[in-house]
Amino acid sequence: MAYDDNNIFAKILRGEMPCNKVYEDDKVFAFLDIMPRSAGHTLVIPKAKAVNMLDIEPDDLCDLMRGVRMLAPVVKRAMSADGLLIQQFNEAAAGQMVFHIHFHIVPRFEGQPLKPCASKMEDAEILAANAAKIIAAMETA
Ligand code: AMP
Repeated sequence: MAYDDNNIFAKILRGEMPCNKVYEDDKVFAFLDIMPRSAGHTLVIPKAKAVNMLDIEPDDLCDLMRGVRMLAPVVKRAMSADGLLIQQFNEAAAGQMVFHIHFHIVPRFEGQPLKPCASKMEDAEILAANAAKIIAAMETA
């Protein structure tokens, strides 16, 4: 599948669509999932263009994983989570819905089931409050 410059995450990267950004550097960008599976569900994406694991340049994947590794403990601490699910889908048949590669960092809480993928839009105030928690946790790392 060819990379489509008009996918929604490409638009977020270009600032053409709003998001709840929690982190950005020269290689990666992270923001909250608008339909979270749990509180603090974060998406980490590369600035490099790639559809998924099948076409990303290995060096771009390394940069992306550095971002995931840095953000994972921050998200866990910010949300007082008991654990984290880290997930990544490749192609529609595997559940990929947005065709710019991304890793999901999904906080898990003891005894709390996950919501289904992309099931319900979260309230804007809740997303903003959770983003603020993650940004604050990063600043106190
Ligand atoms: P997937 O491609 O299946 O790994 O999932 C794409 C994810 O992107 C889903 O969890 C959606 O809830 C999420 N999503 C879709 N549009 C947006 C958006 N505009 N801002 C934040 N998250 C989004």
